[in-house]
Amino acid sequence: MASIKQATVAQLRGMAPASVIHGGVDSVQRALAQLNSKDTPIEKYIYLSQLRGTAKDTFYRLLIDNIIDICPYVYTPTVGAACQLYSTIYRKPDALYLSYNDRGNLAEIMSNWPQHGIRIAVVSDGSRILGLGDLGIGGCQIAVGKLTLYVGGAGIKPDSTLPIILDMGTNNETLLNDPLYLGLRMKRVYDDAFLDEFYAAVRTTFPDCLIQFEDFSSESAFKYLDRYRHKESLIQAPSAPSGQLHTGKCFNDDIQGTGAVILAGFINAVKLASAASGRPILDQRIVFLGAGSAGVGVAMQLVEFFTRNGFTEEEAKQKFYLVDSKGLVTDDRGDNLPAHKRALSRKAGGPQFKTLEEVVEHVRPSALIGLSTVGGAFSEKIVRMMGSFKARPIIFPLSNPSHLSECTFEDAIKWTNGRVIFASGSPFKAVEHGGSTYESNQGNNFLSFPGIGLGCIVAKANEVNDDMVYESALALADSLDDSEINTLLYPRLHRIRDISATIAARVAKAAVRTGAAENSKLGGMADTDLLAYIKSKQYDPTPC
Ligand code: NAD
Repeated sequence: MASIKQATVAQLRGMAPASVIHGGVDSVQRALAQLNSKDTPIEKYIYLSQLRGTAKDTFYRLLIDNIIDICPYVYTPTVGAACQLYSTIYRKPDALYLSYNDRGNLAEIMSNWPQHGIRIAVVSDGSRILGLGDLGIGGCQIAVGKLTLYVGGAGIKPDSTLPIILDMGTNNETLLNDPLYLGLRMKRVYDDAFLDEFYAAVRTTFPDCLIQFEDFSSESAFKYLDRYRHKESLIQAPSAPSGQLHTGKCFNDDIQGTGAVILAGFINAVKLASAASGRPILDQRIVFLGAGSAGVGVAMQLVEFFTRNGFTEEEAKQKFYLVDSKGLVTDDRGDNLPAHKRALSRKAGGPQFKTLEEVVEHVRPSALIGLSTVGGAFSEKIVRMMGSFKARPIIFPLSNPSHLSECTFEDAIKWTNGRVIFASGSPFKAVEHGGSTYESNQGNNFLSFPGIGLGCIVAKANEVNDDMVYESALALADSLDDSEINTLLYPRLHRIRDISATIAARVAKAAVRTGAAENSKLGGMADTDLLAYIKSKQYDPTPC
């Protein structure tokens, strides 16, 4: 336990209890006791937000040392309520607020941010927060929460992080009619020029900053990822000296981070399934319920798994069946399919099915993945069918929060008599069944995005390319220890800082390999040296 430096002791006498000045009860222990005295998750969230703002090192020590217990109060599920209640529980600003009315001046406004040397920004427009829809300016808490996890999970320094909310109005009538609502009181605008100005402002104000897009509605998420991710593309940028700017230095966690984390779990799942059935690992048919940013992002990442293992893209895509609210996604369904769904739609002329049950019955899949936000959509009949097709069916109900999960762990275990290979988006407790205890897996993005971000920072990556994302998934899949390897799909969360460092090292090396790393020192570094270097740089606070 540290005490306040001797030099300042004389000046502080009488200004605080002696135990605080000379080092008495640990501030982290006190913070934990105060946290435990709060009754509800949202009270704990508010308390932790204040602690982060007033005693940063204490807050992060508390988070790092109690990561499993505290995560739910700084991010999902509590952050959902914090976004919904933002204008009611607001006490002080904790993000950069860029409103549509500020267009034309974004770079100037951004330069008001007190910290320099920003290395990572998380930005949302609040248009599709978790499974909760358009929460307008309240979406800023998603950016704040995510960066808190970057600090806690990867050891990125808090002062080099920047949460940003783009306030472009909201279509949420409840918010527009709320007298306390803090955002712009207007219908949401969609304006690519505003996004371009924002993107250019970050790049010119904070040249080393990686931008992570978060919780944009699906179409915007795909559009802006595609627009900004490649280092070769150019956009008009009045704030840049030449009036133009190369893009790159960004990624979208809902699409790429989710893709990586689910691919990691899927790789370990197909190994277990193949060991049980004796069938080849790549012999898979996969049905997805939900074809939004996460559904298509995950499906595309899994397609890459098959193409990197010898299949052509067409052959790989044939393994996938996407189902959305209108049924099986096909080229000839008769509606206007958005481009991201078209990438994986089934060819014209095949059967048209309206329900998941019909699709599962017809396809007889080896894996069923839910990213639909429809709680309970994997019914008993569907899960039992899955159990009848395969010795170990793979079922990933990934929608959040828990009540939107497509099925519970307990039901999946019960309906398959313990044979299911299961991962969910929200955590589920272990289940007792037939005299055995089954531990659940959570395909939590928290296992991957801190490592991806840290790897990009270390490499000074000028883009986050497919090789880097794919490598992050392999690194995560490889990170099971002896106690996890034949039973779990993911490593346990308490090892997150080590896992993030390992992922970061492999992402950084992939950046070097693909010409995306601007840090020339990494090229000749041995893998073990790089890992040790990354660990030595992780923020590891000692509060006084
Ligand atoms: P989204 O809103 O972009 O997509 C939802 C999709 O589900 C849409 O395609 C929609 O058409 C479809 N859908 C809605 N109702 C349906 C119905 N009745 N039947 C079939 N499909 C239906 O959302 P998203 O970003 O893709 O996220 C989806 C879910 O995935 C969320 O609950 C989110 O929390 C979860 N998620 C989990 C993880 C994870 O586990 N690591 C990561 C990201 C997202």
